[in-house]
Amino acid sequence: MKPEEILKKRWGYDAFKPLQREAIEAAFAGRDCLVVLPTGGGKSLCYQLPAAAGRGLVLVVSPLIALMDDQVAAAREAGLAADALHSNLKAGPKREVYANLAAGRTELLYVSPERLLAGDIYSLIGERLVLAAVDEAHCVSHWGHEFRPEYRRLTEALDLFPKAARMALTATATPAVREDILGRLGLRSPEILIGHPDRPNLIYRAFPRRDQVKQVLEAVRRHPGEGGIVYAQTRKDVERLAAKLKEEGLSCAPYHAGLGAEERRRAQDDFVNERLDVIVATIAFGMGIDRSNVRYVVHANTPRSVEHYQQESGRAGRDGLPAECTLLFAASDLAMHRWLAKKDLHLSAERQRALEKQLKDIGRYAVSPVCRHSLLASHFGEPYPAAGAAQAEEGCGACDVCLGETKGLPEEEARLTAKKILSAAWRCEGRYGTGYVVNLLLGRPGERVAANGHDQLKVFGILKEAGEPAVRSWMDQLIVQDYLEVTEDEEYPLLRITAEGRALCQDRGEVRLGLPVKPAKDKKKPKALKLAGGALDEAGEELFGRLRAVRRALADKAGVAPYVICHDSTLVELAAHRPATPEAMLDVKGMGEKRVKKYGAFFLDAIAGKRDLPE
Ligand code: ADP
Ligand code: ZN
Repeated sequence: MKPEEILKKRWGYDAFKPLQREAIEAAFAGRDCLVVLPTGGGKSLCYQLPAAAGRGLVLVVSPLIALMDDQVAAAREAGLAADALHSNLKAGPKREVYANLAAGRTELLYVSPERLLAGDIYSLIGERLVLAAVDEAHCVSHWGHEFRPEYRRLTEALDLFPKAARMALTATATPAVREDILGRLGLRSPEILIGHPDRPNLIYRAFPRRDQVKQVLEAVRRHPGEGGIVYAQTRKDVERLAAKLKEEGLSCAPYHAGLGAEERRRAQDDFVNERLDVIVATIAFGMGIDRSNVRYVVHANTPRSVEHYQQESGRAGRDGLPAECTLLFAASDLAMHRWLAKKDLHLSAERQRALEKQLKDIGRYAVSPVCRHSLLASHFGEPYPAAGAAQAEEGCGACDVCLGETKGLPEEEARLTAKKILSAAWRCEGRYGTGYVVNLLLGRPGERVAANGHDQLKVFGILKEAGEPAVRSWMDQLIVQDYLEVTEDEEYPLLRITAEGRALCQDRGEVRLGLPVKPAKDKKKPKALKLAGGALDEAGEELFGRLRAVRRALADKAGVAPYVICHDSTLVELAAHRPATPEAMLDVKGMGEKRVKKYGAFFLDAIAGKRDLPE
């Protein structure tokens, strides 16, 4: 069977997504390859389809044990003989996995690196292995954001099967990480397939943080009844925010490493199974979760790097439908990251340099009044829009800058404003903190200011009109652009002008300053926010809601996550096309033969207006 036919028959899809066909063909040709595709780009299909071709066993090495069972269930939905082997497996199921392997029945085997390296399955894999896929391949690199020592040993195992092709997959890889993957996993003259990192269905926003609770609530309230994740920096932040959201009557739970294993498992389960709308979490949350209809991700604090941001925000909208990613920035978050990292005494000089660069990059991302889609793409070394694609006149239409919610100050005004702030800092000679300099610029008389005679300075009150939030945000912007720096003495963080800052005061260098624009009261939501870009009318949305309820009932009955039954995008298609027969349903994107057979009748009932849920 041709790959297209397998795709249609097993998964119900008409066409490959970018680079899937190339990856699959490399696998069929026995050639190694590296696949870099953004989240939602369809990486799993690259190794699942070869497994469905019946040519032998496909092995998938993945560090995400918590995800494996759901991945296996989803693969089985496409009719694959799939199993998983990891340390949490009970004796009974484990025996079955071994028996399937020994009998040569297994088509797709998920395995954790530890379990693979234990070595006892090598002889069972034997000659049948045609493809070894290494998922989350960036874990092999120090330069990535999730280094895993066991990944460095994977070649030991892979080298035992020289005939099997190798496929390394990851969502985020800067050029340095890519090089590391190629070398460390021993890919042999590999085909290199790098997709464009942009996620066009995500709306990115980055705002200066003013009132954390209020700003988080605003973002959450735009999505009543929908799934979302709020990331905060510390456990305390998480507890505080979760309590606030609960007070506001939202369906939400906290998640961080300080909670008991049982409590964490329950929060995660409830979220994945759509019994819970909002998770407030530290970055401990996410590696093991797969809910494809997360409609928004809010960062209440600044993440540690652009890679972290891409990974965490990327958990929104995996189903390809519109979703929102909001980042609330404050320069103090970066100082906190630095402080947390310094607690780790083993931080090498090299890691420390890497950290400083990461902090600088994420700070620039957050405060530059420049299209966020283009900033992200360029961080990963790609042009935006992708080569050959046309740039719309009003920009991407999916970020705060292009939507006109953040505006850059005109060049001259930015320079002038920066000079005012910088000269105040200069006057203070690096002996005071940020708050002091802010008060000075706002013209707030205070004992210390008066005692120092600073109320006589020309800069005293010079930015009174702008107001405190603007002045604070501009300072943050000047910090990430290296014109100001915050240094620590024994007790207080002090604000200091840098050499670059002094040069700027003499009109050498360029500066960019931006600010959120007050939204008009009745400003419409961006169009893309509507489900499927407004593809559904009101009756369609109502039907979509009922189909979701049917899916949840089916999932509960089967003991799997709703997305294993099918994705939101498939429900949207069903609601839009309203097929009336199983045959018509086969034409709906994402259904496929097995799904229609198993669930078709229940969905047809819902479409026909029957209200009973499956029991
Ligand atoms: P990734 O692992 O790259 O984040 P997934 O493998 O989870 O992405 O796939 C993301 C979504 O895209 C899933 O819902 C999957 O079913 C869907 N998908 C994969 N391949 C195709 C295709 N060729 N056409 C349509 N949808 C696809
Ligand atoms: Zn934009």
